[in-house]
Amino acid sequence: MTRKTESHYDVIVAGGGAGGIGAALGAARTGAKTCLIEKYGFLGGAATHSQVLAYCGFFQQGLEPVKAVGGAADLVLDALRATGMDGAPYRSPTTGNWIIVLEPEGVKLALDRVLAAHGVDVLLHSRVAAVTRTGKAIESVVVAGMDGRERLTAEAFIDATGDANLSLVTGVSMQTGNEHGYLQAASAPIRVGGLAPDLKVDRAAIIKALAFYNTTGDYPVARTDGGIYTRMPGSGDLWWMIIDLPMHDLSSQTFSRAERIMRASAHDYVQVLRETVPGFENAYLVQTGPQIGVRESRHPKARLRITGEDLIKGRQRPDGVARAGWPAELHTELGKPEYHSVGGAGYAHVPLDALRSAEIDNLYFAGRTIGADDLAYGSIRVMGTAFATGEAAGVAAANPELDGAQVAEMITEMGGLV
Ligand SMILES: Cc1cc2nc3c(=O)[nH]c(=O)nc-3n(C[C@H](O)[C@H](O)[C@H](O)COP(=O)(O)OP(=O)(O)OC[C@H]3O[C@@H](n4cnc5c(N)ncnc54)[C@H](O)[C@@H]3O)c2cc1C
Repeated sequence: MTRKTESHYDVIVAGGGAGGIGAALGAARTGAKTCLIEKYGFLGGAATHSQVLAYCGFFQQGLEPVKAVGGAADLVLDALRATGMDGAPYRSPTTGNWIIVLEPEGVKLALDRVLAAHGVDVLLHSRVAAVTRTGKAIESVVVAGMDGRERLTAEAFIDATGDANLSLVTGVSMQTGNEHGYLQAASAPIRVGGLAPDLKVDRAAIIKALAFYNTTGDYPVARTDGGIYTRMPGSGDLWWMIIDLPMHDLSSQTFSRAERIMRASAHDYVQVLRETVPGFENAYLVQTGPQIGVRESRHPKARLRITGEDLIKGRQRPDGVARAGWPAELHTELGKPEYHSVGGAGYAHVPLDALRSAEIDNLYFAGRTIGADDLAYGSIRVMGTAFATGEAAGVAAANPELDGAQVAEMITEMGGLV
């Protein structure tokens, strides 16, 4: 049985990752009565459920950190700092790009606080499972929660589920994977503990250990260069991006298999380090998941798509509502990412129509669900940019009468960068 809750919202946001947080803050800060629905028991999206422990996209590429996002993203940074996190830009020695290193428990707490401070109703342990529609509008979402099903109504809805689950149950047109149906690999960063704080991690020894594993191991490592790693602030754990798994489809069966292989691989890789790499004698697997990291899944049809060409030329436009400043990162060959820099002034504009459904008038997109071609998607999906596209979607959903330039003006007034 489905209960209908009395409260009616101006804006309902599905998904509590960076896109959803930006969207909820964007809507609530313009005065909209806002509800955010998240299937896990905590907020943060990939940062907290897939060990993606660095915010990318807060800064443009270059020798100095030039900000690409502000507004809602700044509120999140302030909340992170209040939990004791540093929040300072850090130039990755592996890629040369600017990132902000995260500690997942701090992220969860900071996001709880920032949404509460802005009066957003948050429903955790609640999955958007269905919608009701009237013609070209969504009327309500059906939420499967801890106490059964409940129906919530709103004026506008934002799909910030990453995997476009709200769009899926709405029944709009969508593309799976890239133009050719190819899905980027799923990857699982893992945490390794038990290392001395002053241990200098020896990449050559890790490469050797993995090469040895690849001669006999059950789960050959694609990242034969030793992967991407960094020591975590506080715990000193090694954050290690080493597992990549091809995804042929998005079925629960395929995901179940990937989760099982990911856990078994993580166990094996840490064991081979423990057995062969100096300084890793007491190493142990601190954590995988809670779930494997999904780079790409479905792309619902937007009114307009930001393109790779826009990005490479750093195209600015009058209807731009967010900046994309992260180099496009493509994962077409397993374990071998390829980067394309952003041109022009170092960022490209995301147009308002990339955040709007082509088919449903009151459906907006935020984060990974926005309209983007294959190459542009490699840039816009990062979490810094997701906060910004989320904020813009929130402002636009709460104020549907505004055009792109007016949405941009409102965002600028709230401290955002457009
Ligand atoms: C391995 C890997 C490494 C990456 N590295 C980086 C990096 O270093 N830095 C970076 O910035 N980005 C990185 N990315 C990309 C980035 O993590 C994602 O693109 C980003 O998290 C997108 O944010 P989002 O809010 O759109 O989606 P997500 O973070 O996926 O959040 C979506 C949220 O929606 C919730 N949800 C889904 N379906 C429903 C439903 N039906 N009902 C309710 N809730 C639902 C999910 O639980 C989740 O919390 C990486 C991605 C992967 C997979």
